[in-house]
Amino acid sequence: MDDEQAPAYPLPPSAPRPTFLHSFLAHDFSGTCCPVIFCFLCARSFCRSCCQGHSSKHHPGRRPSIVEVTQFRRDWVVSAEDVDGVGYNWNGIQRVKNHGKKVLYIRRLLVKPQHNMPLTCKCGDRMQCRASFCCIGCRLNNVLSGQRRDVVAVLVATNFSEARLANQFCTICRKSFSSSCCTDHMGCHHPGIEDENNEHVIGIERHPVNGYILTPRHGALADVIFDHIQTLDLEGQLLIAIHRYSHGIIQGTMCPCSRIIALGFLYCSLECKDNHFWN
Ligand SMILES: [Zn+2]
Ligand SMILES: [Zn+2]
Ligand SMILES: [Zn+2]
Ligand SMILES: [Zn+2]
Ligand SMILES: [Zn+2]
Ligand SMILES: [Zn+2]
Repeated sequence: MDDEQAPAYPLPPSAPRPTFLHSFLAHDFSGTCCPVIFCFLCARSFCRSCCQGHSSKHHPGRRPSIVEVTQFRRDWVVSAEDVDGVGYNWNGIQRVKNHGKKVLYIRRLLVKPQHNMPLTCKCGDRMQCRASFCCIGCRLNNVLSGQRRDVVAVLVATNFSEARLANQFCTICRKSFSSSCCTDHMGCHHPGIEDENNEHVIGIERHPVNGYILTPRHGALADVIFDHIQTLDLEGQLLIAIHRYSHGIIQGTMCPCSRIIALGFLYCSLECKDNHFWN
């Protein structure tokens, strides 16, 4: 049945300017996100901006099981109320008050909080209230069984300070995201849209030396969008510059923006093609 469908690409060279191109060129890819939301169903962390409506998009019909990780005096904590009901037994972990809310430390504090505190966890850290474990990590190390223990182990091992860069741009949402925050974006956020050729999500790469934003040359959209734009070969990966780019060659031909490009190409970047080819 699928074989009968005419391929959507390549389109003839007269293809109109892709409708998402304006937002793609105007997009700021320099921002980073922090994955402070943890989903107990995925056993992974993400940020709200990369994956809006995570529970309904990724787990339709299931009861949401996400928690926001916050910092309490530099340490990562979760609200005791929020983690209640995710299936893990949190008993024995000290609950500390933070603005009237009880929170659980995810990992050991390491810095001994107050030396006059008589209570000590098995790990040697002092505790602020009567409990068996100072943090979730200590319960995990000492109680080796129990429901959802594997997922909680991921929570404890997650680096919530990690600054993630966007490495994908969805031409339907017209926004960038990190694939670590939103896995299977097309399948979860656009389930009704056919994407056999991976044509709706564009990859974002960064030049290892100058950090320049590039996008892979290959892909279903390549013939329509990237035709005539100089291709950069970075360790075997063929990439296209999104914005004006000096390819560092001295002999060749000239892009309308006056940058020198290799013979056989017309534009240094997608931006220049947009300015001169589709205008
Ligand atoms: Zn999830
Ligand atoms: Zn993100
Ligand atoms: Zn998502
Ligand atoms: Zn401990
Ligand atoms: Zn999308
Ligand atoms: Zn140019």
